[in-house]
Amino acid sequence: MAYFSRLLNDIPGIRHSFLNVHESAAFDKSRLVDIKQVHGAELLSLTELPQQRPHVDGVITSLTAQQIGIVTADCLPLLMASRDGRVVASVHAGWRGTAAGIVQQSVRRFAASGVEAKDIVVAIGPHIRACCYEVSESFCDGLLQTPAREIVSRHLSALFFREPQNPNALSASARENSHQWFDLPAFCLLQLREAGIRDENIEVLEKCTYCTPDELGSYRRRTHVPATKTQQVSWIVKER
Ligand SMILES: [Zn+2]
Repeated sequence: MAYFSRLLNDIPGIRHSFLNVHESAAFDKSRLVDIKQVHGAELLSLTELPQQRPHVDGVITSLTAQQIGIVTADCLPLLMASRDGRVVASVHAGWRGTAAGIVQQSVRRFAASGVEAKDIVVAIGPHIRACCYEVSESFCDGLLQTPAREIVSRHLSALFFREPQNPNALSASARENSHQWFDLPAFCLLQLREAGIRDENIEVLEKCTYCTPDELGSYRRRTHVPATKTQQVSWIVKER
């Protein structure tokens, strides 16, 4: 079964879905605006179909009946909409894109379409969570070299843990004693709040890609347990 956001479902005229790995495999991706995701911070403002495949990590549009989406396999899939259903966006936000500012860039693009931050609804679909996202000590140092350095340094204890958080039998096992566990959704939430998105307009679907192998594809899991490449498609469309 696909995953759905209660907040997005409440917006009239909007349809969306965070497809599971099986539904994603069957999904006809030619229905989506074709983008090449590059872990950056740029979005395509879609007013007409692009001639060439843009290298961007999100699409924002107020076009009716144009399905937009992203593909992920551990990174955060963000589906966004204005509260009035006039503007929608799909955003691929891994740690790199989030650190580079894709959340802020998305909010700026909504503003350019006349939507204030307080009127943006954000749903975060399945992603790798702090049960499974082990990172090296140097990962944190790297994050402190990015445009997100200030927010990271202010919230280190909310982002990094010495132990996995709420692990289960399927969670990634620790690889190194000196490693830490990173809370990727918390990193994104900090940026969403700082960009002015209201807590009540944010919904996190707390499904971990790594430790839900029956339903979700995980890039990280494939590096530990060789398997066929699988991904999740998340899409949103304005129907009127
Ligand atoms: Zn997990």
